[in-house]
Amino acid sequence: MTRLLEVPIGAHSIDRFLPLLGENQIRDAYNLGQAVSKRLAGRVLWNVNSTASGGGVAEILRSVLPYVRALGIDARWLVINGTPEFFHITKRLHHALHGSAGDGSELGERERAVYERVLKANVEELLRLVQPRDFVILHDPQTAGLAPRLIKAGAIVVWRCHVGGDKSNGEEVERGWDFLAPYIQDVAVNVFSRHQYIPQCCDHGRSMVIPPSINAFSPKNQELDDATVRAILVHTGLVEGPPGDGSPTFLREDGSPGRVERHADILRLGRAPTWDTPLIVQVSRWDPLKDPVGVMHGFTQLVDGAAPIGAELVLAGPNVHAVADDPEAAAVMDEVIAAWHRLSHSDRNRVHLASLPMADIDENAAIVNALQRHAAIVVQKSLHEGFGLTVTEAMWKARPIVASAVGGIQDQITDGVHGLLLDDPTDTEAFAAALRRLLEDRAYAEELGQNARQRVREQYLGIRHLSQYAELLKRVDK
Ligand code: UDP
Repeated sequence: MTRLLEVPIGAHSIDRFLPLLGENQIRDAYNLGQAVSKRLAGRVLWNVNSTASGGGVAEILRSVLPYVRALGIDARWLVINGTPEFFHITKRLHHALHGSAGDGSELGERERAVYERVLKANVEELLRLVQPRDFVILHDPQTAGLAPRLIKAGAIVVWRCHVGGDKSNGEEVERGWDFLAPYIQDVAVNVFSRHQYIPQCCDHGRSMVIPPSINAFSPKNQELDDATVRAILVHTGLVEGPPGDGSPTFLREDGSPGRVERHADILRLGRAPTWDTPLIVQVSRWDPLKDPVGVMHGFTQLVDGAAPIGAELVLAGPNVHAVADDPEAAAVMDEVIAAWHRLSHSDRNRVHLASLPMADIDENAAIVNALQRHAAIVVQKSLHEGFGLTVTEAMWKARPIVASAVGGIQDQITDGVHGLLLDDPTDTEAFAAALRRLLEDRAYAEELGQNARQRVREQYLGIRHLSQYAELLKRVDK
């Protein structure tokens, strides 16, 4: 039985960044790329994670690896296979690293045995591909247990952790790291998204911090004019027709033209919002840590408040059957639907729950892009967050943002400069007040959005990511 899936990666020249970053930065990146490619000659740079689509890690790999390949580096992407029980355990681990008990299930010897059994099957296949001195970058807890056998086989192994908790001393965080520590202690480098996420077991001078980045040219982030945004949103059913003069088209990851064909699966009471209705939008996996129910309750405080506001809320996420390593999604979606049913009739009328089609990942990205661009306000009211790519994506689109001051969101947004932050993510009153402020003061909202875009240009585009990877490879390839 084949367990590993290889995800095809295209090649994109970094010349694309010229208009955004200027000649000097591009020349530096080329020189660096050449040096790395020479150093790696004949060796492969493997990336291994646990899903080809949905979630932040897949997003980062999809956006960075094509530039790496175009620089002449043989980068490849493999996805491990696991059983539902395995993904239940890794999801539990994910919650633990965020300081939460998840569903409260065990993380003991029985779970360790399941975890190791699944990864043993994967590593055996992997070892038929990986050669001594190849680089293997393992992503997140799902793949950590592959490290010992790969190291033994002579590969240079890096473990990159995209999650982390703000409360580094919490009992749950400790439980999570106790589970993982035996697998990662001998890797060449551990990479974290923030300094605050480096746990004690990795605080040995061999850990590095590399924040994620976005691809400005991907279907998720490429420029779309208003006519195209409208055509996409009307076609998918997120906004009421007519579609206007545009067509629902975009450029695929590989540069070929794409067209949005599928519809979103939307739960709503009446009609879709009109094109002129201000939309408050949160796009996230269906995960309790993204607090979709809290977003709904905060929104109802806004619309039930003293001065009526004509905004509507769209909670959008991937179709729940689509994200392989997220077994909780369907149950969370059910909870969101139950909470939606409990809203008053008039509130329910303004809240739209959208499951976005995932069969074609570029198409899904184009829909997310259009929705984010059309949003009057993008929100990310997470209770915990690793980095928060949805925030970066909205910032790049110059959207006014209201987000929780948790995890990497705090690194991206300075409150009152690049968006508005909620000190307490559970404070739905403060959330409603922030939304109201941005809806009422559009000039201020516009200013925050422009600052946000500039911040991404400086800090969170792929070129910065590439140069940090180059440094990492130099450091471990002795
Ligand atoms: N995403 C998507 N389609 C969806 C919902 C989410 O492509 O229907 C993407 C979203 O645009 C972002 C990523 O999934 O790029 C989520 O990354 P983030 O860091 O915000 O959170 P994570 O899912 O890793 O916790």
